[in-house]
Amino acid sequence: MDDDSGIKAQPFDFVAISDLEQCGENSMVDILGVCTAASAIGSINTKKGSQLDKRSIVLGDSTGKSVEVTLWGEEAQKNEEHKLVNQIVAIKSARVSYYRNRTLSTSFQSRIHINPSDNPDAQRLRHWCDSNPNFDFQSVSNNTGGTGGSGGAGGADSTQRKFFASIKQEQLGTASSSMAHSRALRKDGGAQNGDYITVRGTVVYYRHDEKKPPWYMACTNLKTDGKTKCAKKATEQPPTWFCASCNKTTHAEPRYVTQ
Ligand SMILES: [Zn+2]
Repeated sequence: MDDDSGIKAQPFDFVAISDLEQCGENSMVDILGVCTAASAIGSINTKKGSQLDKRSIVLGDSTGKSVEVTLWGEEAQKNEEHKLVNQIVAIKSARVSYYRNRTLSTSFQSRIHINPSDNPDAQRLRHWCDSNPNFDFQSVSNNTGGTGGSGGAGGADSTQRKFFASIKQEQLGTASSSMAHSRALRKDGGAQNGDYITVRGTVVYYRHDEKKPPWYMACTNLKTDGKTKCAKKATEQPPTWFCASCNKTTHAEPRYVTQ
């Protein structure tokens, strides 16, 4: 028997991201967007005690709006960050949630297509993206609980939330980060070069190799400000420790390294 006979792939009926606010809660929509950010895979504990993988992505379309989409289970596993970012993503049957204004999530009936080559809407969006590089989408997913907005005057938006991928993409914290992007995360209103970021994440991997522990022995000498510790790697010089950075002996304490 041929299971595929007579079953045609259902055509897409895309809803513009700017129209998501007109969609009912829990309704199923087809969505098409360029992926501007994708988180690393994470997981949640279900009520039944098992783990469910999840990955958050952001899709933007030519209406200038973007939406956060949560991929669950297998879709979260197989659609890795590098396969998604800057690609055109079409999702058949994504569920509309009123969580944080409007967000989307996949369900067991959702199908994700990356760069669907035979779809004219996808081709049009690709062309739109190419002529609008680094477009600053306005999100319909409310991350802050506040008004959001597009940054601007003096650090009011310091609680703006971003994915790791967009922090990397916008090169926040590096000298080349653009004013427009980094200003929103600055506590000082843009007077200095630093970008201050508070990070929330889930530990998914923990090194436990005795020879390479997830910490190093850090120098405890105080810096010239008299408050912060040097924290550079100290080498053991029994019965004490030595810091090459301070060029003097020091005590040492384990300092955890996150990757
Ligand atoms: Zn030191």
